[in-house]
Amino acid sequence: MQESFATRAVHAGRRDFDLLGVHAPPIDLSTTYPTPNLEEAGRSFDSLGAGDRPLGTGIYQRLFNPTTDRFEQAFAELEDAEDAATFGSGMAAFTAVLLAAKSRGSHIVAVRPIYGTADHLLTSGLLGTTVTWTTQDRVAEAITPATGLVVIETPANPTLELVDIAHVVRQAGTVPVMVDSTFATPVLQRPLTLGAALVLHSATKFIGGHGDVIAGVVAGPHALLREIKHVRAMTGALAHPLSAYLLQRGLPTLELRVLRAQSTARDLAQRLAADPQVARVRYPGLPGQDPRGLLSTQMSGPGSILSFELVSDAPSALQRFISALTLIMPAVSLGSTDTLIQPPSMLTHRVVDADARLHSGIAPGLLRLSVGLESADDLWRDLAAGLRAAV
Ligand SMILES: *Cc1c(COP(=O)(O)O)cnc(C)c1O
Repeated sequence: MQESFATRAVHAGRRDFDLLGVHAPPIDLSTTYPTPNLEEAGRSFDSLGAGDRPLGTGIYQRLFNPTTDRFEQAFAELEDAEDAATFGSGMAAFTAVLLAAKSRGSHIVAVRPIYGTADHLLTSGLLGTTVTWTTQDRVAEAITPATGLVVIETPANPTLELVDIAHVVRQAGTVPVMVDSTFATPVLQRPLTLGAALVLHSATKFIGGHGDVIAGVVAGPHALLREIKHVRAMTGALAHPLSAYLLQRGLPTLELRVLRAQSTARDLAQRLAADPQVARVRYPGLPGQDPRGLLSTQMSGPGSILSFELVSDAPSALQRFISALTLIMPAVSLGSTDTLIQPPSMLTHRVVDADARLHSGIAPGLLRLSVGLESADDLWRDLAAGLRAAV
């Protein structure tokens, strides 16, 4: 029988520790590796350059690093994937996925909303891709013979809308589907088990989990990871080995952190929804907010991010709300130990076309709350002070 997620999250990437005689992952900061046997080194170079594993020496850190590789193998195990690749940020990971997809076709089909900068990258066509924006029920008709990838994000940033992964996969046919699963983490959702080809995370968020590392990770089958690692070897958007070490340190506590923050978020979502100063709360765990019933099929819980709108969406009311907070930090990013809040239309989704923003539910007064590990009562006291100040 397969071990539980909790057990695997603690032990993944540590199974050779007895043999090595260590109790924490060794950190290897080498930029280069000795190549005493030139013929062997040449073969390893070819293998790594093509996105495969080293044949002996790692050659050079842009091609291979054992500390990063250790995290990647551990993370792949948690996503039920064959392999994973780490990058210098979530956006670097997304860039590599898009560049690799171009070998199949440079047309991308994407469901809005997604992370603001990812939207901006696709809309700008900077990487030589074109995009058709669609909804989760109209993916099939958006696909053309030139489509190389379908991109979805669920739960979506920042509206918390859930996208039915299996439904999108069925419509995509032979086109690979990439799921940005940053908000869910492998604790709550494993897209590859639902037919997605690739799962992507901004590891800056819950995976690192402590607000001190910026990184991205993509997991999936060998065939696709090979292409993605090939792009990484050429373009060089690596994560530093110290980042990989910190990401691995986040894994054993991932489930604890996600479940604790989720239980606080459920509580706060209910209290916000009941408050007369709040016009609307977006949280899949609230009644009526999971019309497709995905919380009983593709996700095991609604997570710890929620969004809400004040009765007044005047910028001055938002500013008074933010200024009254003493515990919750006004800042972008999410998935940290502490609670963070920000208005997406003014910050993270500022780069998204204004009409598209409104159309996908990102109202001017929407506030996104990333619930941390503080107590629910303390957080509520802070939010309540903000709500009183905003009146
Ligand atoms: C933050 C984020 C990204 C981008 O990741 P970076 O690590 O900031 O580059 C992508 N997708 C989602 C859902 C995010 O929250």
